[in-house]
Amino acid sequence: MSALVLVLNAGSSSLKYQLLDADSGTVSASGVVERIGEPDAKAVARHTVSGEATTRDVDAPDHHAAMRVVLDAFATDGPPLRPQDLYAVGHRVVHGGDLFRSPAIVDDAVIDAIEDLVPLAPLHNPGNLAGIRAARAAFPTTPQVAVFDTAFHQTLPPHAFTYAVPREWRERHRVRRYGFHGTSHAYVSRRLATLLGRDVSETNVVVLHLGNGASAAAVAGGACIDTSMGLSPLEGLVMGTRPGDLDPALPSHLAREGVPIEDYDRALNAGSGLRGLTGTNDFREVERLVEAGDPDAALALDIVTYRIAKYVGSYAVALGRLDGIAFTAGIGEHSPRLRAEVLARLGMLGIRVDPDRNSGGPAERVVTSDDSAVPAWVVPTNEELEIARQTLAVLR
Ligand code: AMP
Repeated sequence: MSALVLVLNAGSSSLKYQLLDADSGTVSASGVVERIGEPDAKAVARHTVSGEATTRDVDAPDHHAAMRVVLDAFATDGPPLRPQDLYAVGHRVVHGGDLFRSPAIVDDAVIDAIEDLVPLAPLHNPGNLAGIRAARAAFPTTPQVAVFDTAFHQTLPPHAFTYAVPREWRERHRVRRYGFHGTSHAYVSRRLATLLGRDVSETNVVVLHLGNGASAAAVAGGACIDTSMGLSPLEGLVMGTRPGDLDPALPSHLAREGVPIEDYDRALNAGSGLRGLTGTNDFREVERLVEAGDPDAALALDIVTYRIAKYVGSYAVALGRLDGIAFTAGIGEHSPRLRAEVLARLGMLGIRVDPDRNSGGPAERVVTSDDSAVPAWVVPTNEELEIARQTLAVLR
């Protein structure tokens, strides 16, 4: 039986997909439909087969229509996507709350549970659900599996996930730390153990997922024991457009100053982080500004690297022994400068960067010198492959 899995990542206005063999990791096609449901603009579909991309303007007023666009792209540009050849559809779902510790085979009860979690992820779970509904309609007899961004962090101990807030908030409003990017942290932490030549169950690592969204995870023997995102993906590291850690007094202070809650939400999700500090959330542009002597960009880089280093230091303490650090996602994989500055701040842990090894792009490699007390690696993430593998594992 083939292990062909269609991986779907549905956002509020986009539908990303990848068709891959979960055993071999071979990708046969990928693509995205963007601007779904936008009243003023045509949707755009891009479908890529063997490195050749085809882009079209399409009508996609909702996710069902976007799913039909995807099926048309397979029918027109290949490869053939016949339901009988498909082992399963794997869905990325952002928030599984404390209900899902592992992937779930989608049925009506699972859909209701994801719906019930919308208040905890109002920006993400509705889009994920729209994708699931569209795929169930398109492939009614193919098993569908939901893979949750939060699931890998369900092993956090209570002292790491509990906020010191009133009991009523914790119990009635489900206020606790959940963590996100779990699929990436799971894949990269396992991969790093393999690259270190060690058994996962005996390896303690810190994974730094540094993309437009960014989070750190402390993983002990394959189980996550702490992570930097919390109730929402706003907590923790400084990100492209989100601030990371803040004083909890900020919302009430701004409310008293007359800032409406909607402006507050928008500013913290879309106008903070690198963008708030420099005007852009594109890290390449921030690096160019630093090179050009821009003081705001230089300060932003200091804030970002200082925050990351603080987390690594605290996670080294939490883990008790640190066997490796992984840099992953857009910035972590591509920016030697970011890696060098973070690692330089970790000198007291005996960490020494090797400038030659650290230079260059996203290939898997060690970037520290042989005498570094802890090795740091670039480990490109592969969330689609991880979703496909988890989908297969739960069905097999
Ligand atoms: P992601 O969310 O994982 O796609 O990462 C997006 C972030 O990675 C953006 O801030 C990009 O500017 C950054 N990025 C992508 N390529 C590079 C590069 N070559 N050098 C520095 N940053 C990069």
